[in-house]
Amino acid sequence: MSKVWDVVVVGAGTAGMPCAIFAAKRGAKVMVIEAADKIGGTLWLASGQISGTKTKLQAKRGIDDSPDKHFADFMRINHGTGDHPFMRKFAENAGATVDWLQDIGWQPQDDHPAITYGHEIYTTPRTYWSKDGGIGLANVLAPAFDAEVKKGNITLKLSTRMSELITDDHGAAVGVRTTSGQEIHGKNIVLTCGGYAASAELWGKFHNRPVRGQFWPHSKGDGIKAAMSLGAEFKWADNLIPTFAGTSDPDSGDTKWINTICTPQLRMPWEIFVNLNGERFLAEDNPSVDVRERALMKQPDMVFWSIYDEAVREKAPPLLFAWDKPKQDRAFATHADYRTGATLDELAEKTGLSAAALKHTVERYNQGQAVKSDAFGRLHMPLPIHKGPFYAVKHYAISVLSFGGVNTDLNCRVLRGNGQPIPNLYAAGEMVGFGRFGNAYLSGTSIGPAITYGRLLGDQILVWNSNQSQAAE
Ligand SMILES: Cc1cc2nc3c(=O)[nH]c(=O)nc-3n(C[C@H](O)[C@H](O)[C@H](O)COP(=O)(O)OP(=O)(O)OC[C@H]3O[C@@H](n4cnc5c(N)ncnc54)[C@H](O)[C@@H]3O)c2cc1C
Repeated sequence: MSKVWDVVVVGAGTAGMPCAIFAAKRGAKVMVIEAADKIGGTLWLASGQISGTKTKLQAKRGIDDSPDKHFADFMRINHGTGDHPFMRKFAENAGATVDWLQDIGWQPQDDHPAITYGHEIYTTPRTYWSKDGGIGLANVLAPAFDAEVKKGNITLKLSTRMSELITDDHGAAVGVRTTSGQEIHGKNIVLTCGGYAASAELWGKFHNRPVRGQFWPHSKGDGIKAAMSLGAEFKWADNLIPTFAGTSDPDSGDTKWINTICTPQLRMPWEIFVNLNGERFLAEDNPSVDVRERALMKQPDMVFWSIYDEAVREKAPPLLFAWDKPKQDRAFATHADYRTGATLDELAEKTGLSAAALKHTVERYNQGQAVKSDAFGRLHMPLPIHKGPFYAVKHYAISVLSFGGVNTDLNCRVLRGNGQPIPNLYAAGEMVGFGRFGNAYLSGTSIGPAITYGRLLGDQILVWNSNQSQAAE
């Protein structure tokens, strides 16, 4: 048999890198395999928000906060759902993660921690955003990882994809097999290979709908499938809630991302949102993103068109905040999700909406706007929508991560449906399910837990495994 590593880590991304670093620092000889040709995983795409309390940065700014308050905010925002012990352990350890990242050189934005508005807001400034988004995090984790590679504590194999787990006669995980047939053996096997966001197959299986968003291409659910093949319990998928809201990019194939500002705290809406029935479905200026997300989930195909006219285009702050004028023009000239029409009839024809329904909806909005009394209670109505050319931008409920994942205990041991751990098998990161944080979007609770549980697992894996072996004897 080939060499038996102390720890085999599958996936050198957000959770895998800190896990390997801390295990190596504890004296483990660690083998890391990574499907991509570089380390970092989803961090190369992510916005990079993390959250944590009692940090050095909070202390410096005199912010009074605590893990209890963090956890209370989780409960308030997710309506008491999710895995409470898992969330509480994260809240208790998240601040140390933020401090550690700072210690290894990470730089959050100057005014952070802050209250941020992409997700339902916390009561206290405890969200930190990298200067360079997720890349800023990858750029400090990668050198710390490389330092352990140079010391000989971590061995890294890039472009090496796990296809399945190897077990012994007792069902304990003892290694991994790669797609090229190579076998790598270890005393501890750690799955940190991300979620299934990029797998249309698993998305259809777990959620019965197409996936729309932007994802790391290797997030195919390999780890989840491998663990489930050993009897791991799959949970939390039902907590799925989408992000409000993404649009197509004329230059990026089928990806959907946040290219417009639909967050009233950052830009009040001047447009109306119209579903595929040609009807409005909410007050577009509702400050709660949770309310907007749930309203969007109930619409046909979870999409809406943002409708406006030339006067709004001229006077409102830019809707398509991320793009320069040539790119905006290109979108309207080339992409089916960006439409213009001289009249509402023409716009309806180009968007596929019912002309009668669209005209009725716009007329009703204008009547309410004239007397400042909106049927949905909207308050911000600076202009009517009444003079062409008219514009329509299609918005989608998007998902960038997996809500379902394999169940683990608080020591990251992968659990079977009967609550028993699969010996030697651990998991951290998105593959334990973002839905574990409940039926809501909580700011900074995917990257934060991935790094935090990865860090704790790496630090303790040799101890936890020896306790487990003793218990089994
Ligand atoms: C556009 C976008 C924005 C986001 N913004 C935020 C945010 O602001 N805050 C937040 O908390 N979360 C955010 N997320 C989610 C967050 O980035 C991810 O949930 C998190 O980074 C996942 O960490 P991970 O370690 O589980 O997976 P990854 O970081 O993806 O790491 C998994 C690694 O495993 C590798 N791998 C996969 N399969 C195999 C295999 N079979 N064999 C070997 N290697 C394999 C992958 O290549 C990858 O390197 C965002 C996600 C996206 C896509």
